[in-house]
Amino acid sequence: MQTLLEIPRRMEVITEYKGRGGRVAAVFPIHYPRALFRAFDILPVEVWGPPKVEARHGEAHLQSYTCSIVRGGLSFILSGGLDVADFIVVPHACDSLQGLGSILIDFIKPDKPVLPIYIPRGARESDINFLAEEFSSVFARLAEASSRSPSDSEMMEAIEREEKADRFLGEVFQLRMRLPFSDREFYRLVRAREYLPGERFIELAQGALSQVNGDPRPGIPILLSGIVPEPMEILNAIARMGGVVAADDFACSGRRLYPAGSSPEPRRRMAESILLGPPDSTRGSPIEERIGHLRRRVDVSGARGVVFYNIKFCEPELFYLPSLRKGLKDAGIPSVVVEVEIGERLSHQVKTSLETFMEVIA
Ligand code: SF4
Repeated sequence: MQTLLEIPRRMEVITEYKGRGGRVAAVFPIHYPRALFRAFDILPVEVWGPPKVEARHGEAHLQSYTCSIVRGGLSFILSGGLDVADFIVVPHACDSLQGLGSILIDFIKPDKPVLPIYIPRGARESDINFLAEEFSSVFARLAEASSRSPSDSEMMEAIEREEKADRFLGEVFQLRMRLPFSDREFYRLVRAREYLPGERFIELAQGALSQVNGDPRPGIPILLSGIVPEPMEILNAIARMGGVVAADDFACSGRRLYPAGSSPEPRRRMAESILLGPPDSTRGSPIEERIGHLRRRVDVSGARGVVFYNIKFCEPELFYLPSLRKGLKDAGIPSVVVEVEIGERLSHQVKTSLETFMEVIA
């Protein structure tokens, strides 16, 4: 396989962005309006449970059954890992993140604005209006903190750039099996969307797409579903077992293949884009939509089975799992569930479950 493109590291990108006068927002998962921040010259950099952080820093503030993304994220803040950020953004994807937002605002009170974003659990007209209003509140907070007020045309310029980056992300996903990269390299590429400015991600995606070739990657095709492929050694483990990730349904990637909005009003257009994206447990999508989506992804990709790669204590995912597995089983699609903690090595038990599953579907 060819070597992957040069992908800059998060800290390099942050240093460069700040060096030319921009600011940085540390953004917790999952859905938020990238373009809104960029219109204020603020780079959103996502925080998905940073590696090598000692979870004990945050434990005093959290219930013991809080997931490792929130535990790791809070510990990272308390140990100074987000000192470089000018804002902290906490979208309310789940009760744990809502709790994190409250702890930050009411108890920890960091020396930078904390911006919560309430994401509605539906995609009706009223939900789109609600989210557009929510974005107006974020706009007002950013305007107050930065003494700037981007015009609608500046907002639309930022939106169109992010929509273009999303189109390229979609193309990379569509052609993933014909890119000459390992799964680990592929996820380094698509997850660069978590911190690269949209225009730089477009260049990176163009470079990747120029390497598309005619031979699909070999291996037993599977679909991976979950929140985030961390620890990323899961991807090496799958490769060693002869598997290849032909499709995904991760909240950090496949569930954020947003369509472009259509409204001429910027805040509404960003709300449409997020709420009309692929079904997601953290947005409360109907179970039937989640099942239908997974079945279609399996059909199109030729995946022979689904691996639910679950973060321990992740309530939104756990709620859907029994129905999703039944819906897949009814369609003759095998599945397995493994449970992981961000920041820890893959357990022997996880590797054994995966190995057995791969042997069954081979
Ligand atoms: S892993 Fe689950 S519980 Fe934890 S922050 Fe993400 S959605 Fe919430």
